[in-house]
Amino acid sequence: MKVAFGHMGTLTPIMELILEDLGHQSITPTRPTRQTLARGAKYAPEFACIPFKIVLGTYLEGLERGADTLASGGGYGPCRAGLYGELHRRILKDLGYNFEFIFFWPPLKKPLHFYRQLKKLKGNNSWLKVMRTIKKAYGKLTILDELEMMAQQVRPLEIKKGSTSRAFAEALQIMWKAKTTAEIATAGEEARAILKDVPIDPARPSPLKVGIIGEIYVQLEPFANFYLEEMLGQMGVEVRRSIYLAGYTHHDVLSTKGDKGSRRLAMPYLGQKVGGHGQNSVGDIIRYAKMGYDGVVQLAPFSCIPEIVAKSIVPRLSKEYGIPVLTLFIDEQTGATGVQTRLEAFVDMMAQRRSRDLSLGVLNHKTSFFPRAISKA
Ligand code: SF4
Repeated sequence: MKVAFGHMGTLTPIMELILEDLGHQSITPTRPTRQTLARGAKYAPEFACIPFKIVLGTYLEGLERGADTLASGGGYGPCRAGLYGELHRRILKDLGYNFEFIFFWPPLKKPLHFYRQLKKLKGNNSWLKVMRTIKKAYGKLTILDELEMMAQQVRPLEIKKGSTSRAFAEALQIMWKAKTTAEIATAGEEARAILKDVPIDPARPSPLKVGIIGEIYVQLEPFANFYLEEMLGQMGVEVRRSIYLAGYTHHDVLSTKGDKGSRRLAMPYLGQKVGGHGQNSVGDIIRYAKMGYDGVVQLAPFSCIPEIVAKSIVPRLSKEYGIPVLTLFIDEQTGATGVQTRLEAFVDMMAQRRSRDLSLGVLNHKTSFFPRAISKA
C-alpha cells in the first residue's frame, strides 16, 4: 500500500518507520505550509478547528503524490475529535479521491475495531513482527522526546541565535535515517552529542521557565503554533510542554485513564472530562505553578470547546496559584507577528515578576525551579 498520513511533529518519522517496516510505501508528508492550511480550509466546514484543516490539506497533498491509503488516529468525544476521521473521509470521497481509509480509535476503547484496522496494515507480516515494529518505534519516539527536551533546555542559553534549532534539525535527520534497533541506539548517542555540543553561555542567569499546555495538535506541530518553542527559546525562555508523544502514548493510547496526575489536580475545578485535553489543561496549570514555573502558555484552536472550558477557569487558577497564563487562540487568520508580540509582552511581564520576587526575597531562583522535565513518560 502507498500510505499517507497527517504531519504532527516528531510523529512523522515514527509513522514512516512503522509503515516501511511492515512493507508499505510511506508517502511521508512534508511539514505543512500556509498553502496546506489554505487548501484544507477551502474544503473544511467553517466550524472545523485548525488541526482538522491542516490535516485535511496534508491528506490532499498525500493523495496527489500517489497515496492509495490514508492512515489516521482519532480521539473519542465528547468534542468533535470523535467525528473528524469520518468527516475527512467523506470530504475527500466527495472530491473524487479513491482511497482506503484506515482509522484507529484508541485501542482500549474499541479493541476489536483497532484490531481490524491494524490487520490491514499488518499485511502478510506475522503478529510478532508487528509487535517488534511497535516496540522499536516506541523506543525511537522516547529518544525523540528526550532530544526535544534537550533542545528546549539549551536554546535559551545558546550563544549564537538559531544554533540549537540547527542542531536539533541535524539530530532529527540522524534519528530519521535509523531503522533498526541497533541503528536507533547509535543514532540516539550521536544526536544527544550534537545537542550537547551547542555552545552555551554558562554565565547567563537561570532562564525564565514556561509550561506549554493545551490541545495536542497545536502543541506538537510547530507549524500550527508558529514555532512558538523556538520563539520563546530565542527570547531566553526555557519551555516544557505538557505533552510529549511517548508519554501521551503511555497515558492516553495504551491506557484509558489519561494522565492521572493532571486530572487529579483538576478535579476540584473541573470534575469531569470535557474532551480533548481540556481537563488536563486545568491540572497542568496547577502542576506548573507547583513546580515554580514563571508562567504558562495555553494553546487552543479557535472554537475548541475543551480549551474554552479550561480557559474559563484560568483566571481563578492564576489568582489562587499566583501564576500568569497567556491563552493563544489559533485559527487560519492568526499571524506569526501577532503571536510574537503577545509573547514578548508576556515574557517582559514574567521577567518583572521574577525580579520583584527576588528583590523581596520571596523567591530563591537557585532552588525554586524545578527539575528539568515533567515528562509524563
Ligand atoms: S480537542 Fe479541540 S481542536 Fe481538537 S478536535 Fe476537539 S474541539 Fe477540535
